[in-house]
Amino acid sequence: MTTPVDPYDLDADALAVLVEDHGEPSFRAEQLRAWLVRGVDEPERMTNLPASMRAALEERFGPARPALEAHTVADAGRTHKLLLALPDGERVETVLMLYADRATVCVSTQAGCAMGCPFCATGQAGFRRQLTGGEVVRQVVLADAALRTGQLADRALPSDHVDHVTNVVFMGMGEPLANLDATLHAIRWCNDPDGFRLGARHLTVSTVGLVPAMARLASEGLQLTLAVSLHAANDELRDELVPVNRQHPLDELADAITSWRERTNRRVSLEWCLIGDVNDSPRDVAELAAFARRVRAHVNIIPMNPTPGVRWREPDGPTIRRFVAGLEDAGVNVTLRDTRGRDGDAACGQLLARYRLGSGATLPAAVGAADRVPVHTATSGPDDEVMS
Ligand code: SAH
Ligand code: SF4
Repeated sequence: MTTPVDPYDLDADALAVLVEDHGEPSFRAEQLRAWLVRGVDEPERMTNLPASMRAALEERFGPARPALEAHTVADAGRTHKLLLALPDGERVETVLMLYADRATVCVSTQAGCAMGCPFCATGQAGFRRQLTGGEVVRQVVLADAALRTGQLADRALPSDHVDHVTNVVFMGMGEPLANLDATLHAIRWCNDPDGFRLGARHLTVSTVGLVPAMARLASEGLQLTLAVSLHAANDELRDELVPVNRQHPLDELADAITSWRERTNRRVSLEWCLIGDVNDSPRDVAELAAFARRVRAHVNIIPMNPTPGVRWREPDGPTIRRFVAGLEDAGVNVTLRDTRGRDGDAACGQLLARYRLGSGATLPAAVGAADRVPVHTATSGPDDEVMS
């Protein structure tokens, strides 16, 4: 018996081989692909294919479609958070954001994550498994088809929303560069003129800074945007907030960012999850400004979203404003990102975390994680709840 395939796991060449295996001419592969791009994966609905081919495909395709387990809407219909159950029962989140003339899908690349960042709900729950390339592609397809066919119409939608996906960000659950093959497969699918036709500039990959994989991705010569989750610009604090820093410390990361820029001619953006009394001091401003200037990067500040089981919080308003102003004064190109859809559990992994907790489970690493992390020595002010 042949192994069942997920057609979204196949690139154009592999689809051509599949069609050839069934003794069909090559234009059938293009027809099949066009259906898949439109979100149709049931062969019986592919009406321009011959009945014999539809029957054969029915046999070949395994059960791969994710089930929509939960759907939360926030920000007056502009943020849709989807909890998807994969065929083996693993769950991932996909977020659709409808702002201005964009429809951005935030996709997950792993069920869980092995990187263990202590402020992140996904990191708390640990690693479950890699997603296949097809499972990543399907998240984009699902959001696009839902927009085009009005499947979200029963939920609040902003009146001016676009009717197809315009941007894809690899910023959901998991570390995209720890699943580089699946990430590249999805990037190619999105970027392909016969696939989603999204320009590489409409694609953003966020990484914790896996240096060897950054070099491999750079060698693909794609014009996509790379976002590096920095969160600390001294090794001592970054070792704690982003544990992979112990393998790839800041000097190594800075070199990787510089060579990314040189190879792709694209500026990298640095993500900084701003955590009260942890990485929001004047010393952090100075270190971040120096690092951003060194690698000539843009900086995005994201006030921390509350995470189940973690007692850290975003700083108060004046502290956030001071932090951003300090960077501007130091000549850094900085954007304060609003925490879109917070009422829908905006940060990655949070919907799932709440779902698990709601069904009586505990997040293994969550309780006490924040307490283990030493607070920045330069942080002044009274002891806070993290220290106590
Ligand atoms: N693993 C990749 C991509 C997924 S996480 C990475 O870490 O870059 C996407 C972004 O969400 C990262 O910048 C991450 O630091 C941020 N994030 C995680 N938990 C958060 C929280 N509680 N509040 C705000 N941002 C958070
Ligand atoms: Fe993984 Fe990114 Fe969360 Fe860190 S922030 S645990 S790398 S998903």
